[in-house]
Amino acid sequence: MSRYHRRDFLRMGAALAAGLGLQSAPVALLADGLERIFAKRLPVIWIQGLSCTGCSVSLLNSESPSVLQVLTEMISLTYHSTVSAAQGGDVDKVIDRVGQGRDFLLVVEGAIPADMPEACVIGGKPLEDFLEPLARNAAAVVAAGTCASFGGVPSAEGNPTGAIGMQEFMTRRKIAVANRLVNCPGCPVHPSCLVGTLAYVAAKGYPPVVPDLLTPKLFYGHSVHDECPRFHLWEKNVFAEKFGDEGCLFKLGCLGPLSHTRCPRRQWNGGVNWCIRAAAPCVSCTSEFFARKRDFPFYRKGEASHLVSYNESDRKEVTS
Ligand code: SF4
Ligand code: SF4
Repeated sequence: MSRYHRRDFLRMGAALAAGLGLQSAPVALLADGLERIFAKRLPVIWIQGLSCTGCSVSLLNSESPSVLQVLTEMISLTYHSTVSAAQGGDVDKVIDRVGQGRDFLLVVEGAIPADMPEACVIGGKPLEDFLEPLARNAAAVVAAGTCASFGGVPSAEGNPTGAIGMQEFMTRRKIAVANRLVNCPGCPVHPSCLVGTLAYVAAKGYPPVVPDLLTPKLFYGHSVHDECPRFHLWEKNVFAEKFGDEGCLFKLGCLGPLSHTRCPRRQWNGGVNWCIRAAAPCVSCTSEFFARKRDFPFYRKGEASHLVSYNESDRKEVTS
């Protein structure tokens, strides 16, 4: 019998939904999804490809459910490359048992080295071969972080591994993407976006997503710019000219207008701080271009001096 009661799941669902807006906050639905995952009615298999493990660390910063609950109730008893107790041959057994069915969630962290299979090997198999049957059988596939979603850092221009994200991988292998793959970008992914997405999928199936990007609208429907506490300064044309100045950080290269996620509302590390509150420009770590393109660098100086620029017309219409 579960150690948790319905009210525990409702509390966790409310915490996940906090900041989503009263009309769209599906507290009971997220609670249902967490209950299903905790009861192992929908096991979670978490596979790591080319990654720094930052998204796993981010997951362990989850507040609700807590790190202990994530470890002991959500993923540990099924499989996670870094934090599960199972290792070696035991891993094969766990994955064979769960992966041959169709009622499990596959979470992928990191990119896939399409041109250099030996760059990532699990149990003696190249990641691609290991991943393919799981991606085919899973009830849904969740790409955790920008590397798994779009390629991210490992697929930086000029890299020899030919690293790609899950959408590209599944398309190349002719594995169904529509209504199966959800991208949760971020470098790292925000824990509430990821856990909230897993809970939603567990409760209700495939969520409403932004076309092309396949990001869940519930968590990626607004830009950082739209909800930025410096937005009023943008509107008044009060711009910081150097670091430390008061003002909107746009002229210091802020890409908040192009980045869609919940940072302004949720912040990081349990609401301690986030990039723009720390006076650092948003580098758009959720973008499909983040870290991949030479002309999409982390930092830029002055709008006129660089290829990356922003106009209101560039804003993506993603709200539901
Ligand atoms: S450009 Fe950046 S700092 Fe300025 S309002 Fe937008 S997100 Fe905030
Ligand atoms: S503010 Fe921008 S760069 Fe910072 S974590 Fe959020 S999306 Fe990423």
